[in-house]
Amino acid sequence: MAETADVVVVGGGCIGTSIAWQLARRGAGRVIMLEKTGIASGATGWSSAIVRMHYTHEPLIKMALFGRRMFENFEDEVGGDSGFRRVGFLVVLPPEDVPAARRVVGLQRGLGIDATMLSLEEIAEIEPRLSLEGVVAGTWEPDSGHADGSSTANSFAAAARNAGADLRIGAEVTGVQPGDGSSIRISTTTGDIEAGSVVMASGYRTSALLEPLGVELPIKPVRHSIAVVERTADFGPQHPVISDHIQNGYYRPEGADLVLLGDHDPLEGDIDHDIETDKQPPPTSIARHTARFANRFPSEADAMYRRGYTGTYDTTPDFQPALGAVKAIPGLFVAVGFSGHGFKLSPSVGRIMSDVVLEGETDVADISMFRVERFAEGDLVTAPEGYGTRSLA
Ligand SMILES: Cc1cc2nc3c(=O)[nH]c(=O)nc-3n(C[C@H](O)[C@H](O)[C@H](O)COP(=O)(O)OP(=O)(O)OC[C@H]3O[C@@H](n4cnc5c(N)ncnc54)[C@H](O)[C@@H]3O)c2cc1C
Repeated sequence: MAETADVVVVGGGCIGTSIAWQLARRGAGRVIMLEKTGIASGATGWSSAIVRMHYTHEPLIKMALFGRRMFENFEDEVGGDSGFRRVGFLVVLPPEDVPAARRVVGLQRGLGIDATMLSLEEIAEIEPRLSLEGVVAGTWEPDSGHADGSSTANSFAAAARNAGADLRIGAEVTGVQPGDGSSIRISTTTGDIEAGSVVMASGYRTSALLEPLGVELPIKPVRHSIAVVERTADFGPQHPVISDHIQNGYYRPEGADLVLLGDHDPLEGDIDHDIETDKQPPPTSIARHTARFANRFPSEADAMYRRGYTGTYDTTPDFQPALGAVKAIPGLFVAVGFSGHGFKLSPSVGRIMSDVVLEGETDVADISMFRVERFAEGDLVTAPEGYGTRSLA
């Protein structure tokens, strides 16, 4: 006979651990989280973990704000460390992005976020070492910064355990089937579980698990590369996180003297179904990252390349997640397809998914645009001027 649970969460990244914690602390009953490899062994462990609120759509701004606030008070709210550093978030803009960025800043300010448009002079005051070639304006969020994916997910996992959740590492889900009408049956490598509710937070692999149920969930695993460079000795104090819309990349400080360099374009990388095999980044991508950094920080032409690695973006056709109940299958929920920008949203997704599972709705943000049915209906999320789809804003 199958074991029973009130809620099963599949996946132990920042999304699954955040959901498991919220469910357990809110008294969801017997909560089991299943992770096939290890906490943060997927995209979360490779994430640049930039925490910013610059988003085109109001629900995403609200979700990012919820997350930023939790990162700021992480030890008190969750316990443990998220690695959050409030270094500020600067966007440098070409002329064509200014109207959309202005609209984003207006939305942010309406929600009480400290965000401003910057002139070239104001950008130079915040970061005087920056070359302003091709830049006509900027945006600035002093309260944003970056955290650490592994620390955050492991802290969520510890908090979930402390709240009574049963976290099973090494348990791989092999099948998901509707149960006897009021339950979902999960087959795993360590036995079957009959659960009242099941939340799939298992990244791009969720598509294949739900395909036999007729759930259309188009997610491509896109491998993204990161270069880590060491700044020159006389660089001076750390720079903020910088999103470069002219060169389509970002520069994210790490520790005292390192910088993580990455791509903006959600499809800049290879679709790779063999993604969990460790692979070095292609040399061309490292050259692209380091050239961009040296263009933007001319003093850093001699920054030392330290290492590179790759991680997965679980990418949907509109670069937005599938979030909420699967309408056709009572008891089944998804929180997947974050397309390279899910880390900062993970605190809010935990709260949202626990709201939806326990109460059927959430007041954190209107998540209707993220419903999974939009893929089958062809009703994809769009962004004015294509802004959000080019830069994940
Ligand atoms: C290089 C890189 C840089 C990024 N930078 C940022 C950033 O700066 N800011 C930001 O907000 N986001 C960023 N992201 C995106 C962010 O990291 C992801 O959106 C987020 O980590 C997704 O979390 P997740 O829990 O959904 O997925 P994952 O971390 O991939 O977790 C899914 C888990 O499910 C498990 N699993 C899969 N199948 C099964 C199964 N059948 N049974 C049991 N377990 C299973 C996997 O082992 C995995 O641990 C970046 C991502 C990458 C790769």
